[in-house]
Amino acid sequence: MFLRIGIFFACQLAGAAVGWWFGAERGAVAGIAAGGLAWFAVDLLRGLRVVRWLRRGSPAPAPEMLGPWGEAVDRMRRGLRARDQQVEDAQQRLQDFLAAIQASPNGVVLLDAQGRIEWSNQTASQHLGIDPQRDMLQLIGNLVRDPAFTVYYAGNDFSHEITIQGRDSTPSRPMRISVHLHPYGQGRRLLLSRDITGVEQAEAMRRDFVANVSHEIRTPLTVLTGFIETLQNLPLPEEDRARYLGLMAQQAQRMQTLVNDLLTLSRLEGSPLPGAGEWTSLPLLMTQCEEEARALSGLLGKAQQLRFGDAPALEIGGAGSELLSAMSNLVSNAVRYTPASGSIQVQWRSLEGGRGEFSVRDSGPGVAPEHISRLTERFYRVDRSRSRETGGTGLGLAIVKHVVQRHGAELKIDSTPGVGSTFAIQFPTSRLRTAKAGATHAQHATESAAAR
Ligand code: ADP
Repeated sequence: MFLRIGIFFACQLAGAAVGWWFGAERGAVAGIAAGGLAWFAVDLLRGLRVVRWLRRGSPAPAPEMLGPWGEAVDRMRRGLRARDQQVEDAQQRLQDFLAAIQASPNGVVLLDAQGRIEWSNQTASQHLGIDPQRDMLQLIGNLVRDPAFTVYYAGNDFSHEITIQGRDSTPSRPMRISVHLHPYGQGRRLLLSRDITGVEQAEAMRRDFVANVSHEIRTPLTVLTGFIETLQNLPLPEEDRARYLGLMAQQAQRMQTLVNDLLTLSRLEGSPLPGAGEWTSLPLLMTQCEEEARALSGLLGKAQQLRFGDAPALEIGGAGSELLSAMSNLVSNAVRYTPASGSIQVQWRSLEGGRGEFSVRDSGPGVAPEHISRLTERFYRVDRSRSRETGGTGLGLAIVKHVVQRHGAELKIDSTPGVGSTFAIQFPTSRLRTAKAGATHAQHATESAAAR
């Protein structure tokens, strides 16, 4: 500052000296005025340079100056640089924030006070059919036409969410979207959407499952209660008592089978995948299936023609008890559904690429094509009464499907009504190996028993 004043006086002094030289006293006074004016002119020019630089914006190079103007320029330059950095940081944060919302599995739409779309993410566009670019500043009410949403939006009560049909919803592939509006700022609203199709389906399945289990248990229970009342209230001859007790035992057995199958299913769903270190002998599995099939066939008084092919000396990788359960379910279905005059063939064959197939072919009633894809659903039966008559629970093929999936295998069903069916499990190469040389039947039996 002193330098500035010093230069000012120096200019006047120089003006006075030059003026004195030319015009004595009057010249000196004029020289002082001219010196002061010159100083102001130069200072004005310097100021104008700074203003011009400021007008051009921060990217322009700052003028090089000394003195107070130089310091002002320097401070302004630093201030501008700090502001630019802040703007850049804020923009980066905004981009990160928008990218995070974009990555959200939930739909997000920002609405202004008039209900116009200010921003929406990709998920919202899938859920509600909004185009983030094209529909910018469009009224949300014009784009989401579901009547439930119209009422919700107009009602102004956003304390709860509502469920509407998704944009791509079709009768065969329904899509259910939950929508919730949250007011914020000055009259603005945040719309959040969530795909709840899976949740609703799971809930419906749970309800169906509970209803099915209750129904399956109630039937034998009603029969049992009826017999118990009869036995309590009526003096029956010994022969009738024995017959009733026999029927009661049958119903109790039916409930037990159902509970066992339910437990097997829940164990299959809840337990970790079978490890690769456990191996079970294929000949042993086939032998056990054969024993069970012959016993069941005799029990049902059918005595069909049962043929079991040779089992090669192979081992299957996975839980022995699960594998036996899947294979024997297929064999017992064949025995239960094939009439006494029919035939059943169980065999193992090698497939291309080192895979292997366990198959059960029967000459039973067969299954119409429209039922085939649903056979592995829990409690799905083509013929309810026939399934029950033969002691079926409707869970056998659901268990098979789970076991097959857990072992990386595939279940193949081929059936022609009136001709017969083939149910086959195809194992991948990774699950098969040649039995260890010297491994005895007894050894396999021990391994398998331990596995169970
Ligand atoms: P279920 O205990 O009723 O046998 P499953 O899950 O084992 O239950 O089978 C589902 C349905 O598939 C059965 O009810 C039956 O209608 C049909 N099914 C299964 N195996 C056979 C077969 N070998 N022949 C004809 N129908 C079969």
